[in-house]
Amino acid sequence: MSIVDDCVFCKIVAGEIPCTKVFEDEFCLSFLDIGPLAEGHTLLIPKIHYGQLPDVPTETMTALATQLPRIGRAILKATGAEGFNVLQNNGRIAGQVVPHVHFHFIPRKAEDGLGYRWQAGSYPAGRADEIARCIAESLD
Ligand code: AMP
Ligand code: ZN
Repeated sequence: MSIVDDCVFCKIVAGEIPCTKVFEDEFCLSFLDIGPLAEGHTLLIPKIHYGQLPDVPTETMTALATQLPRIGRAILKATGAEGFNVLQNNGRIAGQVVPHVHFHFIPRKAEDGLGYRWQAGSYPAGRADEIARCIAESLD
């Protein structure tokens, strides 16, 4: 798939709707999130439409991954943030609203009020080995 008609990010790539651009190359486009969680909240997308991370081919993923530390460094430098989160949602259940794969860079500062409901669990005896083996056997 390349350009998908009703996809807002495809429309941005095609220049049909505007964005506040940060960076682009042959494979990638980076621009400010229109609803920032913090000043400088930036998105990185592939120019070609892929719905979710598992759909992205290696060449495009390599291009995207190459930009992650670079944009991260720029976020820290430009915003003065003490850190940042890279967030990448896959599927509505995981909070994905725009069905064109994207990475969020969210600058973080002390007491910014952002955070997670991160309730760490634990495995019953044997289950960790079982699920790790199951994931390993599912790798393609
Ligand atoms: P997600 O929930 O991971 O799908 O995130 C989608 C993000 O896209 C949200 O943070 C939106 O604010 C952002 N977004 C939606 N439309 C636009 C747009 N036209 N320009 C920039 N960011 C957008
Ligand atoms: Zn798209």
